Amino acid sequence: MHSPRGILLDECDNLQRVLDETLRSNYGLEGSEDFYTECQARLAYIKSELVNTPEDEHQNLQKSAELLQALSDLLSRIERSSIEHYSWPFVDELKKIALALCTEATLAGPNTPPYVFVLSEGGPGAYAIRPEQQRPSGASRRIHTITLPRTLKHFVLLHAILGHEIGHAMFRCSKHQADLANILSTQLLPGSSLATPATAAAWIYSPNAPIHVRQQLTDLAIRFGVTQGNLWNNFNFNQWREEILCDFLGIMTFGPSFVAAESNVLYGLNPSGAQVGPFHPPTGCRLTYLLSASRLLGYSTRTFSDSELSKSVAAFWAKLEAKRPTDPWYTLFTDAQIQAAANAMANLLHPLPPASYQPPDEEDLLLFTRQFANAVPPVGSYLNNDKAVHCRKIDFRNILEAGWIAATTSSLSFDKLNRLCEYGILQQQAVNISLKA
Ligand SMILES: [Zn+2]
Repeated sequence: MHSPRGILLDECDNLQRVLDETLRSNYGLEGSEDFYTECQARLAYIKSELVNTPEDEHQNLQKSAELLQALSDLLSRIERSSIEHYSWPFVDELKKIALALCTEATLAGPNTPPYVFVLSEGGPGAYAIRPEQQRPSGASRRIHTITLPRTLKHFVLLHAILGHEIGHAMFRCSKHQADLANILSTQLLPGSSLATPATAAAWIYSPNAPIHVRQQLTDLAIRFGVTQGNLWNNFNFNQWREEILCDFLGIMTFGPSFVAAESNVLYGLNPSGAQVGPFHPPTGCRLTYLLSASRLLGYSTRTFSDSELSKSVAAFWAKLEAKRPTDPWYTLFTDAQIQAAANAMANLLHPLPPASYQPPDEEDLLLFTRQFANAVPPVGSYLNNDKAVHCRKIDFRNILEAGWIAATTSSLSFDKLNRLCEYGILQQQAVNISLKA
């Protein structure tokens, strides 16, 4: 019969075997060796703690048990990531942004990027990031897990919603957390309905709230005893604020594609847009401030010298505007608050290339429009009149934006447009390599 400490030491050996099996060969996971070394260091730390912990120090043994459990969860996720049921051209580009946003000072060095890996599961509700809250002892870097929906493997247009998810990882980053919290508390929230938990509860329980909201609140009171006075004992006010912050980071990193992706995914999950969630404000509120930000940032008011392109872009925004709730209850922030928060975030992101979204050139959008018309992937490579091949460096987010505009005007199915965009991102990676050569 094993003692508790003996069981935990056995589990260290078991984990070592899983680690050797999972990461001993390149499982298709970029940087397998780095993951191996990182996990090996964490396991060695836990084992050395255990070896030095007397049998009767139950609290310390408990701590080691929890660390072992977390490490085995992490290893299983890394193992599943090797199946690669996700769009890897998109993920390659996403990682560049995630690394730029999440590089921080650690014991390993002043500018240490995290490790990021990806796995797929479920449907549209699966979009998520699992950022390590803090680096476990013995760890040199954080390891973040990004989850993509298995059913949406090729739907890169919807993947723009991950701009929000990498915002969560940035908020965990020691280098930026205080600045981001400061943007919320000094620029966006003061004077708004979400200034304090009490003002937020008063707004949610306002008699002017939409009927769907009032019905939900009545239901919450009957079933769970939730009232205006105890709302934030049951719901998470800080999480609401973080979700809003991440929406702003999403639009600042992915631009119009983020607004379109978030609106499509969230209304699909909550068609009324009115659901007051324990962690998230209603979808209708989120789309309202994102559309206002799009106008203030000049995205939705942009015009082009090509009148057809101007019409297509106007049609794209008109379709999104049609989803904006008409009830003023959904408006959380003034234009001045949104503009101030966007400006402060732009200043924070600007020194972190390629994190900031840059609007596409008209020339690129016209090129993509011609390519979509011929049902070929949108990519910065074309033949001109002299039949010579011309190549241009184009950011993958501009491919996504063109895909969303085409989704409003093109006769191609959404599935086909997504696949063309996925191929476009892949081919653009080749174009970029050829331009560097
Ligand atoms: Zn979130």
